[in-house]
Amino acid sequence: MARKFFVGGNWKCNGTTEEVKKIVTTLNEAEVPSEDVVEVVVSPPFVFLNFVKSLLRSDFHVAAQNCWVRKGGAFTGEISAEMLVNLSIPWVIIGHSERRALLKESNEFVGDKVAYALSQGLKVIACIGETLEERESGSTMAVVAAQTKAIADKVTNWDNVVLAYEPVWAIGTGKVATPAQAQDVHRELRKWLSENVSGAIAESTRIIYGGSVNGANCKELAAQPDVDGFLVGGASLKPEFVDIIKSAT
Ligand code: PEP
Repeated sequence: MARKFFVGGNWKCNGTTEEVKKIVTTLNEAEVPSEDVVEVVVSPPFVFLNFVKSLLRSDFHVAAQNCWVRKGGAFTGEISAEMLVNLSIPWVIIGHSERRALLKESNEFVGDKVAYALSQGLKVIACIGETLEERESGSTMAVVAAQTKAIADKVTNWDNVVLAYEPVWAIGTGKVATPAQAQDVHRELRKWLSENVSGAIAESTRIIYGGSVNGANCKELAAQPDVDGFLVGGASLKPEFVDIIKSAT
């Protein structure tokens, strides 16, 4: 079965009520390919999740940017997977490099979070990616394989997982991976899944690219055979996000 193109917008820690309304209005008025062709998911900060969900067109969906590693309780400041399910939030981003780097989320912790979120019925955008230093030392594949393995060790059903390859050196830097660089890693990741999980899962799992994607560079990246869509940060706050959605066709 063909992999449906996926475009996620990670709004990170940005926005006011007014700004959020403006972005949603732009999205609601946009003419984009149908839901059969492209799955669109936007991820506002927690405090705006319900607000965005209530305003957003019904063919687009929302994601949280994180959730706690297990059942909620005495974890001040955290949001549990159960709460997201209770609010009918279908998706969650887990393992973003900003959290891995700034909040010291380890591969194992990310793997546990992915597994717990899935067990509660959430769909997961699981992020992986190497730093510039790791790329320059030739360890890109070893790094992303270890990150993927930590997830694969805990996950049995991949139906609700989208794997987001986001090289850290490309995130928020304006330095996008070339289409060939993205394709190389995506192809190798698919091969890794095939050899270590199963051929069927390698074939069906969407591997999306993130890191300085914009309206100008999305088309060429989207044309790569193993690039199944994007996770977009900065440009998801701008009208050009619509162009990125349109790169699905
Ligand atoms: C991200 O934060 O997931 C991301 C890809 O950011 P940007 O598009 O701004 O590089």
